[in-house]
Amino acid sequence: MKGHLLTAPGRTEFRELPSLKAGPGEIVVDIAAALTCGTDLKAWRRGHPKIPFPSPFGHEFAGIVAAAGDGAPFRPGEAVMAVHSAPCGSCFYCGADQENLCDSIMETKVLGAFAEQILLPAHIVARNVFSKPDHLSFEEAAFLEPLSCVVYGARLQPIRPGETVLIVGCGPIGLLFLLLARAQGAGRIIVTGRRSARLELAHRLGADTVIDVTHDDALPTIMDLTHGRGADQVIECTGLPEVWEATPRLVRKGGRILLFGGCPSGTQVSFDTYRLHYDEITLQGAFHFSPAAVAEARQLLVDGSIDVSPLISGRFSLPDVEKALISLRQGEGIKYAIVPEGME
Ligand SMILES: [Zn+2]
Ligand SMILES: [Zn+2]
Repeated sequence: MKGHLLTAPGRTEFRELPSLKAGPGEIVVDIAAALTCGTDLKAWRRGHPKIPFPSPFGHEFAGIVAAAGDGAPFRPGEAVMAVHSAPCGSCFYCGADQENLCDSIMETKVLGAFAEQILLPAHIVARNVFSKPDHLSFEEAAFLEPLSCVVYGARLQPIRPGETVLIVGCGPIGLLFLLLARAQGAGRIIVTGRRSARLELAHRLGADTVIDVTHDDALPTIMDLTHGRGADQVIECTGLPEVWEATPRLVRKGGRILLFGGCPSGTQVSFDTYRLHYDEITLQGAFHFSPAAVAEARQLLVDGSIDVSPLISGRFSLPDVEKALISLRQGEGIKYAIVPEGME
């Protein structure tokens, strides 16, 4: 089978890789569609501490079971949707019902969706692989992973019906939060960003107000729209320390801030203690997802509560992954589908 390896910053090689064999409880999946993600773009541009070269990459996918090991609950030919990690079920955090923080969830995740096939180990097959219904395309089903992250964040800080939600950043994650906030009955949704095409898309997907922060200061507009109080909930999706620091100014007394975008490691921020204490502002980080969030995200995709298809900006064949990444680097597109030959 062929697949991409990240070999150096800015470089991938598409080459023949060892063939995959399903052991007990494992499955090999023929990838029918993979999606690009901000993490892939970052890993390709400058390397990633958890992805040493050379490494397979790509982690959002859906496909068809090619082989199933003994005891695996799927059969060859079945269409499946999956995420690329699962908790161990036996560590302290798994026991404390914080499975997203599982001690081994990152070490045992699987990369390599930019390939013809991927091998899913037994612990993932047991918890985070599902059959894919026919009415959902493989590309849409591949949104299971990013949507699980977003759903997990919204389980920590629920989006409440009727409230004003401010989404800071309109990349793929900000736009998925927008779709989720609409589906969960948010009142006014405000989206800020820096790219007019993405802000226009946010408007089409149901944002009531979009603010281009390259030429407009978001604060006065947000205050105007909220009787001078600030948003009920702010969802930070940029991963920029200066944006993290600015979020308490945008939220009302008693409001909630979900810090979703991960900042570069080693960065620090500071917050006004008065606002956190006297104004009772909640700051909440969110990382990865739990199996419960994956199940909820799958349901949202399957029952049509969330239509992710407008976030697919185009398609590339498997050998052309770098062309998709170059487009994203140039600020074009939201997510690209990568489709192996014969799967078009
Ligand atoms: Zn992703
Ligand atoms: Zn664990």
